[in-house]
Amino acid sequence: MSLSPLIADLITALQVLPGVGPKSAQRMALNVLQRSREGGAILAEALAAACEHVGYCEQCRTLSEHPTCGLCADTRRNAAMLCVVESPADILAIEAAGGFSGRYFVLHGHLSPIDGIGPIELGLPELEALLRGNPLEELILATNPTVEGEATAHYISQLAEGVVEQVSRIAHGVPIGGELEFVDGGTIVHALAGRRILGS
Ligand SMILES: [Zn+2]
Repeated sequence: MSLSPLIADLITALQVLPGVGPKSAQRMALNVLQRSREGGAILAEALAAACEHVGYCEQCRTLSEHPTCGLCADTRRNAAMLCVVESPADILAIEAAGGFSGRYFVLHGHLSPIDGIGPIELGLPELEALLRGNPLEELILATNPTVEGEATAHYISQLAEGVVEQVSRIAHGVPIGGELEFVDGGTIVHALAGRRILGS
């Protein structure tokens, strides 16, 4: 039996989600149609609204439907501390862990010349302007402890040389080759607390 075109389209579309292959996409599509049409309509609406309205914060580049995100707009946060992360998910992980009250800057990736991702794609000219415009006490490089994440941290530390008083790199606790997003809160708190100062 071949599926009707609308159902087949839905199954194809669902596979845009991470970790969803043809089998689970088919299960999801049939489940929504058989048991949860109302929920499906809410999902479709939320998805369309988010895709249309969510852009990037002009200051930290995280995902936001406002020109300035909630974290950058929060005047209680310490503007003298800036934490550079690879993805918005890393902000959520660090915020959930607690203990950091500074601001963030999101790279949306790491240096990867083979994929055509260089300093411009990571917003490093914007980061440099930010560093020169706002005197910082500390710049924390919280890129992932992978080879690419380390290379990116090294590149940014050179960019900040002579501009920022103190540049540090998260060190302990985060497993080598690991990704922050998947590390538990206690480990993130430990990694931030145990950061080491670079270039001294
Ligand atoms: Zn922001």
